[in-house]
Amino acid sequence: MNLVLMGLPGAGKGTQAEQIVEHYDIPHISTGDMFRAAIKEGTPLGLKAKSFMDQGNLVPDEVTIGIVRERLNKQDCENGFLLDGFPRTVAQADALETILEELNKKIDYVINIDVDESILMERLTGRRICKDCGATYHLVFNPPAKEGVCDKCEGELYQRADDNEETVSTRLSVNVEQSKPLLHFYEEKGYLRNINGNQDINVVFDDIRNLLGGVKQ
Ligand SMILES: [Zn+2]
Repeated sequence: MNLVLMGLPGAGKGTQAEQIVEHYDIPHISTGDMFRAAIKEGTPLGLKAKSFMDQGNLVPDEVTIGIVRERLNKQDCENGFLLDGFPRTVAQADALETILEELNKKIDYVINIDVDESILMERLTGRRICKDCGATYHLVFNPPAKEGVCDKCEGELYQRADDNEETVSTRLSVNVEQSKPLLHFYEEKGYLRNINGNQDINVVFDDIRNLLGGVKQ
């Protein structure tokens, strides 16, 4: 079961990833974890990646792709994997095809959790944080008992600048534009499956399980 997980910020990718890897007993391979592991193990590519990151630079594709290759070649990927956060571009997706060919593997599905932008906006702009104790709330999913006031310490709740409508809207548009060519690439390959992410978390996972088959591998 070789999977790639896609979805815009706020689509609930993290939650679904957790459920998928647990249910199907496959490793969750996120870009961040992969970099951290390679750096910790001190592999030549890990060290290379670190030198770019230490200087505040983006890790170039050839290094990232090398790290993905090393990771997918590990024993625990024998029965499958869930890639999350990679690939981000068509160039990376092309490279992934080559890597998988070399390893005699193939992507089974690219799962795209598709959520309406208005719902993403609601999810992403609803966060409120207590000025005094740092407790977090959500206007829709986890509202405080009294509007604008922390349940725990009665501190004032505020919205982080990153969470305001304009910033979130820009972030979403950038992500939509970036993911379009990638979604198109996987659609052409016949791997793409859109899952309706507007639904309750558990219903979304049911749909994924129906797609993949309910039996644990
Ligand atoms: Zn508080």
